[in-house]
Amino acid sequence: MENISQTEILINEVSESYPEKETLVKLLSLDGKEAADVLFKEAYAAKGKYVGKKVYFRGLIEFSNICEKNCYYCGIRRDNKQAHRYQMTEEEAVEAGLWAYESKYGSIVLQAGERTDRAHIDRVERIVQKLMEKSEGKLGITLSLGEQSKETYARWFKAGAKRYLLRIETSSKELYKQLHPPDHVFEERLRCLYDLKDLGYQSGTGVMIGLPGQTAAHLADDLLFFKEYNVDMIGMGPYLQHNQTPLATAFDDFETVKIRNFELTLKMIALARIMLKDVNIAATTAMQAIKPFGREAALLAGANVMMPNITEKKYRGDYKLYENKPCSDEDYDECASCLEGRIKAIGETVGYGEHGDPLHYFRRRG
Ligand code: SAM
Ligand code: SF4
Repeated sequence: MENISQTEILINEVSESYPEKETLVKLLSLDGKEAADVLFKEAYAAKGKYVGKKVYFRGLIEFSNICEKNCYYCGIRRDNKQAHRYQMTEEEAVEAGLWAYESKYGSIVLQAGERTDRAHIDRVERIVQKLMEKSEGKLGITLSLGEQSKETYARWFKAGAKRYLLRIETSSKELYKQLHPPDHVFEERLRCLYDLKDLGYQSGTGVMIGLPGQTAAHLADDLLFFKEYNVDMIGMGPYLQHNQTPLATAFDDFETVKIRNFELTLKMIALARIMLKDVNIAATTAMQAIKPFGREAALLAGANVMMPNITEKKYRGDYKLYENKPCSDEDYDECASCLEGRIKAIGETVGYGEHGDPLHYFRRRG
């Protein structure tokens, strides 16, 4: 009981003020189901109060796994010569986007490995323009295409993309350095995030949780970073191993580690909701890779967005960021209907036909 009332006092601090890092560390380190449940319950109440209990779908189109970068944790990194590379045609990408529009998803996410060459930049611009034309400007388009010049971000914004997701991965410069080769520069990632905001994008960032070398103090700093950046959207997920990456052997017993990462991700989602209130928070696929009902657990801890994978089936298995990525064998409509049933089962509804823009974006812009 003592423990529970102590937890409530700490949660109150996170909700009412700019919390101390120590408070966040204590909450992230909460031991026992009872105390964690208090946190999730408070986060769910905050979600109901600030964004409601509607889940917004973003159809996720993983349109290419070709990447210039070499992040140590990622299965589609440039140096993974065993990865089978693909790129959807423009027509395929547009078709998938229109399928989402016709299925009343409201918005889509175009995601791919990072490329900065002219052909890629032009192709993305054309895909966005075509989708805007064919949906009469009604489809919400989010991009998740890595680090680009401000000029490129501006072109894609002008073409019609209004949201951008770029995870900082970790807000610790030191940890960032350990997870990336020397040519991946932390300050450049920050430059991109601030350029995106400056251009008027609804801006999303996030981190991986349970990375080798990451502590509760790092995660507390990540939450404070989201606050400082004044983020509109958050996409956080547990770190998962991929056997063909340099980090494949970082943990001896990854089966145990991944359960811990799952629990920690729920706490991060809950704390982000209590602290940041009206932002959009995704229940990411990586949660489902650990537990079959992982995304529902994320919704109950404060998330309000889901990203059903609508990439054409023949490509899906090749966008393998980590082992056991789920939903690789299902057709998109099967995937959507199974999701709707799961959402109804926890007493929530799907915001069909709505963009589900982050309310925070409008509040911060006044
Ligand atoms: N290339 C773009 C980028 O890096 O921003 C977008 C695609 S990238 C695959 C999307 C996200 O996947 C990354 O931001 C990273 O957080 C996540 N990711 C990559 N490898 C992962 C892993 N092994 N476990 C969990 N998430 C991973
Ligand atoms: Fe490329 Fe993104 Fe994977 Fe890094 S995380 S290797 S940038 S796809």
